Amino acid sequence: YMFENFKKMQFKMPKKFSAWHIIIAFTFFIFLQMYLMNPGIRDISYSEFKKLVRDGDVLECHITNTMIRGRLREMEKGTTKPAIFITARVEDPDLVKELEFVGVKYEGHYESPWFKTFFFSWVLPLLILFVIWRFVFKRYGPAGSIMTFGKSKGRLYAQEDLNVTFDDVAGIDEAKWELQEIIEFLKTPEKFRALGGKIPKGVLLVGAPGTGKTLLAKAVAGEAGVPFFNMSGSEFVEMFVGVGAARVRDLFAQADQKAPCIIFIDELDALGKSRGANPMGGHDEREQTLNQLLVEMDGFDSNKGVIIMGATNRPEMLDSALLRPGRFDRQVVVDRPDLHGREAILKVHAKEVKLEEGLDMHSVAAMTPGFVGADLANLVNEAALLAARRNKKSVSMPEFEEAIDRIMTGLEKKKRLMNKKEKEIVAHHESGHALIACSLPHADPVRKISMIPRGIGALGYTLQKPTEDRYLMTRAELLDRIAILLGGRIAEDIVFNEVSTGAQNDLEKATEIAKMMVKEYGMSEKMGLVTFEQGNRPLFLTGGFAASKEYSEETAREIDLEIKKIMDDSFVRVKALLTDKKEILIGMAKTLMEKEVIEGDELRKLLEELHKANGKKDG
Ligand code: ADP
Ligand code: ZN
Repeated sequence: YMFENFKKMQFKMPKKFSAWHIIIAFTFFIFLQMYLMNPGIRDISYSEFKKLVRDGDVLECHITNTMIRGRLREMEKGTTKPAIFITARVEDPDLVKELEFVGVKYEGHYESPWFKTFFFSWVLPLLILFVIWRFVFKRYGPAGSIMTFGKSKGRLYAQEDLNVTFDDVAGIDEAKWELQEIIEFLKTPEKFRALGGKIPKGVLLVGAPGTGKTLLAKAVAGEAGVPFFNMSGSEFVEMFVGVGAARVRDLFAQADQKAPCIIFIDELDALGKSRGANPMGGHDEREQTLNQLLVEMDGFDSNKGVIIMGATNRPEMLDSALLRPGRFDRQVVVDRPDLHGREAILKVHAKEVKLEEGLDMHSVAAMTPGFVGADLANLVNEAALLAARRNKKSVSMPEFEEAIDRIMTGLEKKKRLMNKKEKEIVAHHESGHALIACSLPHADPVRKISMIPRGIGALGYTLQKPTEDRYLMTRAELLDRIAILLGGRIAEDIVFNEVSTGAQNDLEKATEIAKMMVKEYGMSEKMGLVTFEQGNRPLFLTGGFAASKEYSEETAREIDLEIKKIMDDSFVRVKALLTDKKEILIGMAKTLMEKEVIEGDELRKLLEELHKANGKKDG
């Protein structure tokens, strides 16, 4: 990077400094001229001058409005030239009389102060403008030169400078695993080309701030040994229309020369915000920049070896055009780390500080639920600073505890951590889903429940075994699905006697299933074997456009009532089940809060224990 920049600078230097060159040369020239033209000038005081006049030593003088220059009768030492003197002119009305009296040849000269005028009215203002201009553009362009205005500000890291490998990234193994293929490709693009394989052009890293998306992208470049261009989406969007687009063009042109390489665009949402999403009308500049990005992405051949990685924490904001095939069509979710992940991240960062012998990183990790990689890096640093302030030789538990407290309050203020109450609600909500899933005969087995938010949006999650949709389901299976979805909310209701907003997505999905049961699959007794929806929609794919209605208002009302009936029946069923197993639910939530994540096998064991303890039989 340094070398690159240096080369660029050398190229630009003469242009950039030309104004200074001129000024310096000009000043130098003036002084030189003054000196050369007037050798051996005696600078005398005015009174001395008067005395010389009175003594008749002055041969002639030349009077300007500011000074008097003249020649003396006396010769310059060793020459035949008369000595030259100069003196500042003083207001002296009698001077002319005196000169006449002693017979000095004199002449007046009105010297226009052209130099001063020139300096004050041209050079100085220009100089000031130049300084202001440099100052202003320094904030928008790195070199403060108009030459670099349309240049991308992307920083290029050579592979040596990057120095990040997968060993530096901990706790997000799934994401690492998914990026393995990209690394293989960047290492040996020929191999992939020979096989005719298509490699994704764009990879979108989705995850909360600080989960390590940038780090991950750098690590991919580091592992593959390719250059890495880093640029933030907000840096593209300038106040001047057209600059962003020019930057995109420049960035891709640079990357093209360095292929294979990685272009990393952080905060992609700043640039790729859905084009309709601005209520204040279009944002021309951003739109142009986005269009340019799309054009560039379509225009180059991924087999050349340029991979574009984008990062965002708001994937739902992105313009759908960015997510189309051939653009950011691969998405990698960078989750918040769980307990083990946090321990691993802490260990990576603790390598750089001196820890007290036998310090248990596992218990530090256990104290930091909800922390992301950046928070943990910060934690280790804070703890080390505290230890230094206390003149300790190594970092020990009390420092970690205090640092955790500090960071925790900061994060809670920024709403990045759940507070205790929220944690309890999420734990019971997820336990509700899981408990229903474990109790119903037609439900898929639970694979994992977690309180660590997955991706964006959800607060916790419950994973069931076949997560893919199935294409043939019985009525009983669908009803069980609805029940599981309702389980979360009803659990909150039973335990806390109130419900939160966290279940909205569950309810939406459950209603959708009920709707399809009635309208498409003819699964309602009352409506009978009729389908009210045309066309084949994939099972459980929500959204899309509303199908045209081919039934009366009356039928529509009946359909609504049938949907409501399915929902109500499910509600009663789940409520009965959960009320019956309330102790088990509470026990499960407690374990979940301690462990954050419960795997499927653990969960079944836990349920057995809880059933025994509460004297109930499984099922
Ligand atoms: P993001 O791009 O997701 O906002 P960054 O990659 O900028 O997050 O992370 C900031 C810093 O936090 C990193 O430089 C690193 O020190 C630390 N960090 C974040 N995630 C991890 C991780 N998984 N493993 C190790 N360090 C991490
Ligand atoms: Zn839920």
